[in-house]
Amino acid sequence: MSAHQTLTDTASGRQTEARAGGAETNRILSGLKPEIFFHYFEEISRIPRGSYNEKQVSDYIAQFARDRGLEYFQDDIHNILVKKPGTHGYESAAPVIFHGHTDIVCESDEGVHHDFEKEGIKLRIDGDFIHGTGTTLGADNTVGVALALSVLDSTDIPHPPLEVVLTVQEEVGKGGAQYFDASRLTGKRLIDFNWHDPKSLFAGCAGDISARFRIPAEWQKSPAGLTPLRAFVKGLSSGHSEFDIHLERANAIVLLARILGALLDELPIRLASVKGGVNRYVIPGDAEAILLVHQADLDRANEIVRSVSADLKKEFFVSDPKLEVGLERHTEAVERVLSDITANSVVQAITLTPNGVQSMSLTIANLVESSNTIALLSTSDEEVEILSTIPSAISSRRYAILKRIERLAALMGRGTKVTTFADCPEWPYNKDSKLLAVATRAYEETFKVKPHVEVSHSSLELGLFNQKIPGIDMISIGPEAFDVHTTRERLNHTTVEPIWRLLKEILRNLKD
Ligand SMILES: [Zn+2]
Repeated sequence: MSAHQTLTDTASGRQTEARAGGAETNRILSGLKPEIFFHYFEEISRIPRGSYNEKQVSDYIAQFARDRGLEYFQDDIHNILVKKPGTHGYESAAPVIFHGHTDIVCESDEGVHHDFEKEGIKLRIDGDFIHGTGTTLGADNTVGVALALSVLDSTDIPHPPLEVVLTVQEEVGKGGAQYFDASRLTGKRLIDFNWHDPKSLFAGCAGDISARFRIPAEWQKSPAGLTPLRAFVKGLSSGHSEFDIHLERANAIVLLARILGALLDELPIRLASVKGGVNRYVIPGDAEAILLVHQADLDRANEIVRSVSADLKKEFFVSDPKLEVGLERHTEAVERVLSDITANSVVQAITLTPNGVQSMSLTIANLVESSNTIALLSTSDEEVEILSTIPSAISSRRYAILKRIERLAALMGRGTKVTTFADCPEWPYNKDSKLLAVATRAYEETFKVKPHVEVSHSSLELGLFNQKIPGIDMISIGPEAFDVHTTRERLNHTTVEPIWRLLKEILRNLKD
């Protein structure tokens, strides 16, 4: 039996009586400080828990609560709430909500066969960093769960009454926070642990919504005698569509539409399929189209693509130095093609959909206020779909951008429609936040330097809590993690102890 199997076999509530500091053998993280945090980090990492697969971790936490006589509540989709009374002298203080999410992003390297349904994460320490082994680490947001359990488990940390909410499905549209019944909470102040920078306190975020632009596909039999080609865009810098949008990086789907538009303007090419992008939060780095071209037009088609390619290389030489655009033979048979109307609609829709930064904040320097990213392009039997994700710090601007996309669909007609999902409100920055003031003082007290106060163009579940609990006061803190959502995800374990001290100092100061 491999060490890894041993780890996954023990992933259950039966293990919760093993406290940090006890005789724990075969622990990868033993010796790291704070011990209690890394005990729970490792416990939770053993439990498989991709989005929609959170029952086991929820049950583990329920067992944890029962073992300690703590009140808890699990809802139908396995969100869990655990309550703990305030410690001596803090019994009547206003409650504090802790928030984190139990699900993780499940990505593995090519050639790594990891069964995320059944296997926990194989932890690995390399210098200051903890990694997964060929997979995401899931520090996003195992960190939050482990911090919350560490405080719940403690007997020597002064704190107000606690209401710990650990949500599910955060990584797939914030379904857990959307569903959670916030009337079960009495607290009006919340500390979130889904932040990855120990040098800053996080104090506000955008909301976002995703929109599917759906063009009905009219199919025709491929005309005989045409040459199948593949037009491609690759090598772009890509990046996170909310954290990196200000970098003005090229969008592979938008560039593909430039190439197809240039070809369609001049030649009777036929389009068979288009695709691009990886998920709704990534600036697409690759896109491709399969098309049919008359033999006599091949040279001209190549010339057109070379000319567009030269333009694009000039336009994006700073942001996307490895940009590559080309046309090559496609070796598979192409049985059917889209009608000219469908093909032109696809190019028009991509070209006319707002993409990239739409507005900058005038109250916070260098902060993007609103943007859109055309993130995914796909072709099915029924339709060609262009998926956009629209973050904005102001809901009305988010909906105004969406409205432009909807009006474009209405203008195109012929059954074109827009459907939306994962609508999440913003959490506006509040410069008068009392909790932020307490946290800032605690930070200065603990580290003898001022923290940065960070407001982000990304969208977090905190927007939903802000909507559900009017007047709620929130901050987010966390240790340093890099490249979350990728197999390069890593947690700087040396930054956990400072965050732990900060958290304890904040709690000590929440006596009213
Ligand atoms: Zn995440």
